Amino acid sequence: EMEIAIKVVVVGNGAVGKSSMIQRYCKGIFTKDYKKTIGVDFLERQIEVQSEDIRLMLWDTAGQEEFDAITKAYYRGAQACVLAFSTVDRDSFEAIESWKRKVEDEVGEISMVIVQNKIDLIDDAVVKNDEAEALAKKLRLRFYRTSVKDNLNVEEVFRYLAEKYLQQ
Ligand code: GDP
Ligand code: MG
Repeated sequence: EMEIAIKVVVVGNGAVGKSSMIQRYCKGIFTKDYKKTIGVDFLERQIEVQSEDIRLMLWDTAGQEEFDAITKAYYRGAQACVLAFSTVDRDSFEAIESWKRKVEDEVGEISMVIVQNKIDLIDDAVVKNDEAEALAKKLRLRFYRTSVKDNLNVEEVFRYLAEKYLQQ
Protein backbone atom coordinates (compact mmCIF):
# COMPACT_ATOMS: atom_id res chain seq x y z
CA GLU A 1 0.00 0.00 0.00
CA MET A 2 1.32 3.40 -0.96
CA GLU A 3 1.79 6.05 1.64
CA ILE A 4 0.50 9.49 0.87
CA ALA A 5 2.68 12.44 1.90
CA ILE A 6 1.30 15.94 1.99
CA LYS A 7 3.38 19.09 2.29
CA VAL A 8 1.50 21.61 4.40
CA VAL A 9 2.66 25.20 4.74
CA VAL A 10 1.54 27.27 7.70
CA VAL A 11 1.50 30.97 6.84
CA GLY A 12 0.45 34.20 8.51
CA ASN A 13 1.99 37.20 10.23
CA GLY A 14 4.69 36.78 12.85
CA ALA A 15 3.66 35.72 16.37
CA VAL A 16 0.22 34.34 15.49
CA GLY A 17 1.37 30.92 16.72
CA LYS A 18 2.47 29.08 13.58
CA SER A 19 5.58 27.48 15.05
CA SER A 20 3.70 26.66 18.24
CA MET A 21 0.95 24.99 16.22
CA ILE A 22 3.41 22.79 14.35
CA GLN A 23 5.20 21.87 17.58
CA ARG A 24 1.91 21.12 19.29
CA TYR A 25 0.64 18.94 16.48
CA CYS A 26 3.84 17.04 15.75
CA LYS A 27 5.47 16.87 19.19
CA GLY A 28 2.56 17.39 21.55
CA ILE A 29 4.23 20.27 23.35
CA PHE A 30 3.56 23.95 23.98
CA THR A 31 6.25 26.33 25.18
CA LYS A 32 6.11 30.06 25.60
CA ASP A 33 9.49 30.71 24.04
CA TYR A 34 9.77 28.26 21.19
CA LYS A 35 12.72 28.84 18.90
CA LYS A 36 13.02 27.07 15.60
CA THR A 37 15.66 24.35 15.61
CA ILE A 38 18.26 25.42 13.10
CA GLY A 39 18.45 23.07 10.14
CA VAL A 40 14.98 21.61 10.50
CA ASP A 41 12.69 22.58 7.65
CA PHE A 42 9.61 20.71 8.75
CA LEU A 43 8.11 18.42 11.34
CA GLU A 44 5.90 15.50 10.43
CA ARG A 45 3.10 13.42 11.80
CA GLN A 46 1.38 10.35 10.49
CA ILE A 47 -2.38 9.99 10.66
CA GLU A 48 -4.98 7.64 9.27
CA VAL A 49 -7.75 9.17 7.20
CA GLN A 50 -10.38 7.05 5.45
CA SER A 51 -8.11 4.05 6.12
CA GLU A 52 -5.24 5.69 4.24
CA ASP A 53 -1.91 6.33 5.92
CA ILE A 54 -1.16 10.00 5.50
CA ARG A 55 2.16 11.59 6.32
CA LEU A 56 1.72 15.30 6.96
CA MET A 57 4.89 17.34 6.60
CA LEU A 58 4.38 20.66 8.31
CA TRP A 59 6.71 23.35 7.09
CA ASP A 60 7.67 26.16 9.39
CA THR A 61 9.34 29.46 8.59
CA ALA A 62 12.32 30.61 10.59
CA GLY A 63 10.47 33.80 11.48
CA GLN A 64 11.16 35.73 8.28
CA GLU A 65 7.45 36.06 7.55
CA GLU A 66 7.81 39.69 6.59
CA PHE A 67 10.50 39.04 3.99
CA ASP A 68 9.67 37.72 0.57
CA ALA A 69 12.97 36.16 -0.43
CA ILE A 70 12.65 32.81 1.32
CA THR A 71 9.05 32.18 0.49
CA LYS A 72 9.43 30.69 -2.97
CA ALA A 73 11.48 27.75 -1.73
CA TYR A 74 9.23 27.38 1.28
CA TYR A 75 6.01 27.17 -0.74
CA ARG A 76 7.39 24.93 -3.48
CA GLY A 77 5.40 21.74 -3.82
CA ALA A 78 2.92 22.63 -1.10
CA GLN A 79 -0.33 20.68 -1.34
CA ALA A 80 -2.18 22.26 1.56
CA CYS A 81 -2.03 25.48 3.51
CA VAL A 82 -3.06 26.90 6.87
CA LEU A 83 -3.78 30.64 6.78
CA ALA A 84 -3.36 31.70 10.39
CA PHE A 85 -4.19 34.84 12.31
CA SER A 86 -4.38 35.73 15.98
CA THR A 87 -7.43 36.65 18.05
CA VAL A 88 -5.47 39.55 19.56
CA ASP A 89 -3.74 40.89 16.43
CA ARG A 90 -5.92 42.89 14.06
CA ASP A 91 -3.19 43.27 11.41
CA SER A 92 -2.77 39.51 11.23
CA PHE A 93 -6.48 39.14 10.40
CA GLU A 94 -6.33 41.82 7.74
CA ALA A 95 -3.30 40.13 6.16
CA ILE A 96 -5.07 36.80 5.52
CA GLU A 97 -6.12 37.58 1.94
CA SER A 98 -2.64 38.68 0.99
CA TRP A 99 -1.15 35.50 2.46
CA LYS A 100 -3.61 33.49 0.40
CA ARG A 101 -2.58 35.34 -2.75
CA LYS A 102 1.12 34.89 -2.00
CA VAL A 103 0.74 31.14 -1.68
CA GLU A 104 -1.48 30.86 -4.75
CA ASP A 105 0.93 32.95 -6.82
CA GLU A 106 3.55 30.26 -6.18
CA VAL A 107 1.64 27.00 -6.16
CA GLY A 108 -1.82 27.71 -7.59
CA GLU A 109 -5.01 26.58 -5.92
CA ILE A 110 -4.45 24.09 -3.11
CA SER A 111 -6.48 23.01 -0.10
CA MET A 112 -6.58 25.82 2.41
CA VAL A 113 -8.13 26.58 5.75
CA ILE A 114 -8.40 29.76 7.81
CA VAL A 115 -7.39 29.46 11.45
CA GLN A 116 -8.03 31.97 14.21
CA ASN A 117 -5.54 31.03 16.89
CA LYS A 118 -5.23 32.14 20.54
CA ILE A 119 -8.96 31.73 21.09
CA ASP A 120 -8.12 31.35 24.79
CA LEU A 121 -7.58 35.13 24.69
CA ILE A 122 -11.13 35.75 23.46
CA ASP A 123 -11.76 38.35 26.20
CA ASP A 124 -9.17 40.57 24.50
CA ALA A 125 -10.33 39.80 20.95
CA VAL A 126 -9.82 42.49 18.31
CA VAL A 127 -11.63 40.56 15.57
CA LYS A 128 -15.37 40.01 15.73
CA ASN A 129 -16.76 36.54 15.14
CA ASP A 130 -18.95 37.65 12.24
CA GLU A 131 -16.03 39.40 10.55
CA ALA A 132 -13.95 36.25 10.59
CA GLU A 133 -16.87 34.16 9.40
CA ALA A 134 -17.61 36.65 6.62
CA LEU A 135 -14.03 36.46 5.41
CA ALA A 136 -14.09 32.67 5.36
CA LYS A 137 -17.34 32.75 3.43
CA LYS A 138 -16.00 35.27 0.95
CA LEU A 139 -12.85 33.18 0.35
CA ARG A 140 -14.92 29.99 0.43
CA LEU A 141 -12.69 28.39 3.02
CA ARG A 142 -13.39 26.32 6.10
CA PHE A 143 -12.78 28.31 9.29
CA TYR A 144 -11.45 26.97 12.60
CA ARG A 145 -10.85 28.64 15.93
CA THR A 146 -7.92 27.14 17.80
CA SER A 147 -5.97 27.49 20.96
CA VAL A 148 -2.58 25.92 20.55
CA LYS A 149 -2.03 26.73 24.22
CA ASP A 150 -5.09 24.77 25.38
CA ASN A 151 -4.78 22.20 22.58
CA LEU A 152 -8.18 23.11 21.18
CA ASN A 153 -9.08 22.17 17.59
CA VAL A 154 -5.49 21.78 16.37
CA GLU A 155 -5.96 18.13 15.37
CA GLU A 156 -9.16 19.02 13.55
CA VAL A 157 -7.42 21.56 11.31
CA PHE A 158 -4.88 19.11 9.96
CA ARG A 159 -7.34 16.25 9.71
CA TYR A 160 -9.60 18.47 7.63
CA LEU A 161 -6.75 19.36 5.27
CA ALA A 162 -5.85 15.70 4.85
CA GLU A 163 -9.47 14.78 4.13
CA LYS A 164 -9.80 17.64 1.67
CA TYR A 165 -6.63 16.52 -0.09
CA LEU A 166 -7.94 12.96 -0.43
CA GLN A 167 -11.22 14.20 -1.90
CA GLN A 168 -9.54 15.91 -4.87
P1 GDP B 1 4.84 32.41 14.94
O1 GDP B 1 5.71 33.62 14.83
O2 GDP B 1 3.59 32.57 14.14
O3 GDP B 1 5.57 31.14 14.63
O4 GDP B 1 4.34 32.35 16.47
P2 GDP B 1 4.93 31.48 17.68
O5 GDP B 1 4.55 30.06 17.54
O6 GDP B 1 6.37 31.78 17.85
O7 GDP B 1 4.09 32.07 18.89
C1 GDP B 1 4.17 33.43 19.28
C2 GDP B 1 3.77 33.55 20.74
O8 GDP B 1 2.38 33.23 20.89
C3 GDP B 1 4.52 32.59 21.65
O9 GDP B 1 4.80 33.26 22.87
C4 GDP B 1 3.53 31.47 21.89
O10 GDP B 1 3.72 30.82 23.13
C5 GDP B 1 2.21 32.22 21.86
N1 GDP B 1 1.05 31.39 21.46
C6 GDP B 1 0.97 30.52 20.43
N2 GDP B 1 -0.23 29.94 20.38
C7 GDP B 1 -0.96 30.46 21.40
C8 GDP B 1 -2.31 30.27 21.87
O11 GDP B 1 -3.11 29.49 21.34
N3 GDP B 1 -2.68 31.02 22.95
C9 GDP B 1 -1.84 31.89 23.58
N4 GDP B 1 -2.31 32.56 24.62
N5 GDP B 1 -0.57 32.09 23.17
C10 GDP B 1 -0.13 31.38 22.09
MG1 MG C 1 7.57 30.94 13.95
